[in-house]
Parts: sequence; C-alpha cells; structure tokens
Amino acid sequence: MRLILLGPPGAGKGTQAQRLVEKHGIPQLSTGDMLRAAVKAGTEVGKRAKAVMDAGQLVSDEIVNQIVSERVDEPDCRKGFILDGYPRTVPQAEALTRILAGKGQGLDAVIELKVDESALLKRIENRVAETVAAGGQVRADDNPESFKKRLDEYREKTAPLSAYYAGTGELKTIDGMADMDTVTAEIENILGEAAARAS
Ligand code: AMP
Repeated sequence: MRLILLGPPGAGKGTQAQRLVEKHGIPQLSTGDMLRAAVKAGTEVGKRAKAVMDAGQLVSDEIVNQIVSERVDEPDCRKGFILDGYPRTVPQAEALTRILAGKGQGLDAVIELKVDESALLKRIENRVAETVAAGGQVRADDNPESFKKRLDEYREKTAPLSAYYAGTGELKTIDGMADMDTVTAEIENILGEAAARAS
C-alpha cells in the first residue's frame, strides 16, 4: 500500500500515519526526518540541505526527489509506505509519479484530510491556553502567529497538490474535523477499496 496523506498542519496526519504504521506494518517516510538525519550524519546531501533548512526554506526538489527515490528501494518499503511531508509542491508530485513509474510502481491512494481552518486555529489557541493554565511549556511554533504562517505556506505551496491529484483521479478527500476514530475508519475504507481494485 503506497499512499500520501495530505492536509494542513494540525489536521491530524501524524496521528493517522502512526495508526497506519501499526496496523499495516509499512513505514512512515518523512522527508523532514530524513533530511535531519542526513544533516546529523554529515553526508553530502546533509551539507547541501543544512543552510536551507536552517533558514526555514524548502530544500531543492532535486535533493528531496533523490532521497525519496533511494528510500523507497529499501527492503522495509516492499509492502508499501506512507509519505509524510512529501510531495510538498506540484513539481515534486510530478517527479514522484515519474520516480515510481520508473520502478514499475504507482500510488494506491492520496488521502486529503479536509479541515476547517478557523476551527484549527481555535484548536491551537485552546491547546496553548490549557498548557499555560497547567503551568506547562508551550512549543515555540505552537502559537497562533506561527500557526498562521505554517497555514499560509501550506496554502501557497502544498494545497495546489489537491488539484493535481484530483486531475490524476487519485485524490480521496475525507472530513478531517470528524473524531480521530471516524477519520481512521474512513482511511481504512479507502485503503480497502484500493486493495480490492488492485487484486
Ligand atoms: P518538516 O519536518 O516536514 O517540517 O521539514 C523540515 C524541513 O525540511 C523543511 O522546513 C524543509 O526545509 C525541509 N523539507 C522537508 N520535506 C521537504 C520537501 N518535501 N521539500 C522541500 N523541503 C523539505
């Protein structure tokens, strides 16, 4: 099962990906994690990516396409994978299509968690208020200003992927505002249908 989870920050992609990892025994491939590991290990890719990442910009398509292409060849991806944080732009999505086609593979599903952005912002504000009330430490990027910026970035660069995957006929959209178990059940339905189509 090869799939992409799409959705803005705070939509619950991480939680759902973790559940899929446990249930299906396929890895979650996060390009952010892979790049951080490359920086830590001091590889050539890491050296090239570090300054860009430190500046909060996107690493070049060439670099991320290359690391994803190599990563999906590893044995733990034989049964599939969940892409997280990649593709992040339409050119990356186009590259992914070519990369997988070159390996004789395709995607089984692209699942978008559709969420109401104003409700998301409220969710973050409540979480911050609760953390402060409990005397806890608030994450540096868990504040309404940073959250708005992350949403803007998503809207500008990543949201166009929905149209791209709608165009290829691969996009499935589900209500990300539903409770977590309902979202999980809907994802499983989509994966079940994709598996039935493939067999
Ligand atoms: P993340 O952990 O997904 O927030 O990613 C951390 C950083 O890694 C980002 O700010 C980018 O600099 C870089 N990065 C991760 N994934 C990508 C991607 N698909 N394309 C370009 N840069 C990426």
